[in-house]
Amino acid sequence: MKKNIALFFALLVAACSFNPAYCQKAPRIFLNPGHGGHDSNDRPTPLRLVASGDSITYYESDSNFATGEGLIDYLEKKGYEMATTRHNNTSDDDLDLFEIVALAANSGADLFFSVHSNATGVKKRLNFPLTIFRGYDNAPAVAGSDSLARAVARHLRANEASVWTHRLRVAGDWSFYYNWGYKTGLGVLRYNKLPGLLCEGSFFDYMPERCRKLNADFCRLEAWNQSLGIDEYFGRSQKGKTGVVAGVVRYDCERADTSYIAFEADLKQPANQRVVVLRKPNGQRIAHYLIDNLNNGFYMFDDLKPGRYLLTIEGSNYRREVVVKANASSYCNFVIAK
Ligand SMILES: [Zn+2]
Repeated sequence: MKKNIALFFALLVAACSFNPAYCQKAPRIFLNPGHGGHDSNDRPTPLRLVASGDSITYYESDSNFATGEGLIDYLEKKGYEMATTRHNNTSDDDLDLFEIVALAANSGADLFFSVHSNATGVKKRLNFPLTIFRGYDNAPAVAGSDSLARAVARHLRANEASVWTHRLRVAGDWSFYYNWGYKTGLGVLRYNKLPGLLCEGSFFDYMPERCRKLNADFCRLEAWNQSLGIDEYFGRSQKGKTGVVAGVVRYDCERADTSYIAFEADLKQPANQRVVVLRKPNGQRIAHYLIDNLNNGFYMFDDLKPGRYLLTIEGSNYRREVVVKANASSYCNFVIAK
């Protein structure tokens, strides 16, 4: 019997030294998808769609919740254990900050992750990912939070379906909110003993980004990119077996609504209601994506096996080859004639 036990441990040690991930238990993530619940704490922002004349309201909680749901989905598929502060987007499950901290502390999680979207609060328009951890810029209160924040921000900033105005920003909350008082920082990170961060994925008051964030799949893309950063933090990047391809289809003409500030590719008119088709390299149809009518031109295909694919736009001759890699994002933007 003793011999068998010794043999078991010898084999285990051998397996561990061959592949340390073999010995790791599934990492547990405690997720806090933002705040609000279609109320005043939710930064409601109306927007009018020039093409249809419809008026709709963007709520920060909608995109935070969609991103959170995407993160649960992607990370569970990759073997993580997930806990979340909300299963609905209502005022009732918009928990108090200190309640969230207490739940996180008792969850047995390895990491705390809070999903948000940003706004400048002034007229100036910006767009870049901002990840904030507890501590000073060069001294996180919990070791590892800074490298996690850097990895997540890097994958978000690589998203070519967005238009970015600045490089990524990673900050400690005691440095970033230095005028709030000595070691005050963000309420949701206060008393938090887990490695973790608050992730401001992008700026919803940049109108083209707000239009993209109205699309739940764009929020899922943000989640997918966050998951790549989390994988990197846990040394699990090799475990993911599928990839994603996404992008934006725009017309080769100026945007119809020039009432808002836009930069670079966002100066062109996004294509509404066009169909992007995913094909095998020989042209065989695999799937299609109907772009919504919310002035974002966004499409996405996920859960794809690595390999070569062909993308076409229905009703046109536009076609592009794309390579999908395991546990990575590929991007393919189109500018087409109207
Ligand atoms: Zn927020």
